[in-house]
Amino acid sequence: MSVNIGRILGIPIRIHWTLWLVFLLIAWSLAVGYLPATYPQLSANMDWIVGAVSALLLFVSVLLHELSHSYIAKKNGLPIARITLFFFGGVSEMTEEPQDAALEVRMAAAGPLTSFAIAGVLGALWYVGGYTGFPVAVMAVLRYNAFINVALGAFNLIPAFPLDGGRVLRGGLWQSSKNLLKATRKATRVSEILSLLMIFAGLSLIVLNPDNIVNGIWIIFLGWFIRSGAETSLRQTQMTEALHGVSVGDIMTRNLLTVAPNLTVQQLVNDYFLVHPHGGYPVVQNDKLQGVVTMGSVRSIPREKREFETVAQAMVPYERIVTINSTASAAYAMQKMAKNQIGRLVVTEGDRILGIVTRGDLMKTIRTRQDLGVSDTTFR
Ligand SMILES: [Zn+2]
Repeated sequence: MSVNIGRILGIPIRIHWTLWLVFLLIAWSLAVGYLPATYPQLSANMDWIVGAVSALLLFVSVLLHELSHSYIAKKNGLPIARITLFFFGGVSEMTEEPQDAALEVRMAAAGPLTSFAIAGVLGALWYVGGYTGFPVAVMAVLRYNAFINVALGAFNLIPAFPLDGGRVLRGGLWQSSKNLLKATRKATRVSEILSLLMIFAGLSLIVLNPDNIVNGIWIIFLGWFIRSGAETSLRQTQMTEALHGVSVGDIMTRNLLTVAPNLTVQQLVNDYFLVHPHGGYPVVQNDKLQGVVTMGSVRSIPREKREFETVAQAMVPYERIVTINSTASAAYAMQKMAKNQIGRLVVTEGDRILGIVTRGDLMKTIRTRQDLGVSDTTFR
C-alpha cells in the first residue's frame, strides 16, 4: 500500500498510494480551475506545470510539518517508527505516547507552527517577487502554497482530537488535571461536538444552496473523520490506562510447550495442533530459541510435503520473530503487536525463552480490569 522513499532524521518516509491520486487531483483542479481563473495570462501548458509544481510543494510542506513533530519527539527520546504521507496529509507513527503533558503540547504545536512558518517564508518571497518582477508562474506557485500552508496550519489547530489542536488541548487538560484518561475523555467530547457541528454545517450548506454540494460533502467528510479518529484515540487511551502498572511478565504464559526443530511438519500437526489449543509454538533446541512455528507456517507447506519438510524449514526463524522483555509494560507489548501486525510476542531474556504473550492475554487483562473499574482509578 505504501512505498518507501528514503530516510530523513533517521526516520523512514513512506508514500501511501492514495497520495498519487490526490497529487493528480490537486494538479488537475489547479490547472483547469484555479489557475485559468486567477492567472489568465498563463498558457494551458504552463497551468499544468504550475499545478504539478504546486502539488509537489504541498507534499513537501506536509512532510516538513510531520518532520517537525518527529524532530521534537526524537529529541525527547520518543521513537518514531515511520512517517507515512497519505491523502489527508501525514501521520508520524509513534511507537510510544508522550509520557508528560508539556511534551505532548510542544510536539503537537510544532506542526502547525511549521506550516505557518513555511507560509511566512513563501508569502515574503511572493511579496518581494511583486516588486522585483518574478515570473507570473513563480508568483502563482508562491501564492497558492503560502495560502495552502496557512490553511494546513489552521485546520490542524482545530481543537479536535486527534488533530494537532486536539492534542494541544488534551495536553493542557492533562497538565491541569494530572489524569490522562480524564483529559482524553474531555478532549474527545470536544471533538465529538465539533464533528457534529461540522456535519450539521455541511448539511445546511447543501440544503441552503445546492451549488455548494462539493464543499458540503467535504465538510461532512472531515467531521466524520474527526469523530472516528477521536473515538479510536479514546479507546486506545482507555486500553493503555487499563494496562497501567502491568508488565509483560505478569500476564505471559510460562511453561510453554516447545517444539524440536527436526520434527516433521506432519508430526507437528498430529502431536501439537490437533491435540492442544494453541495457535503457535516456540521452536527450541538445547534451551535456545530457534524460531516460532504457527498455523500459518504449516499452511505455507503444501499438504503432500508435510511428511518430509521439518519444523526448522517451516518456522519463522529467530531473526524475524518479534521479541519483548518480561519487564516491558503490557501497554508497550500492545503497541508492538499493533505496529508489527502480529498477535503474539515471544518473551525472551537473551536467547532464552521465558514465555509468550498474546493479544488474547492483553484483551483479557484489559476486560477484567475495566470490569473491576481499575482503569478509572488509575492516575499517572
Ligand atoms: Zn500535525
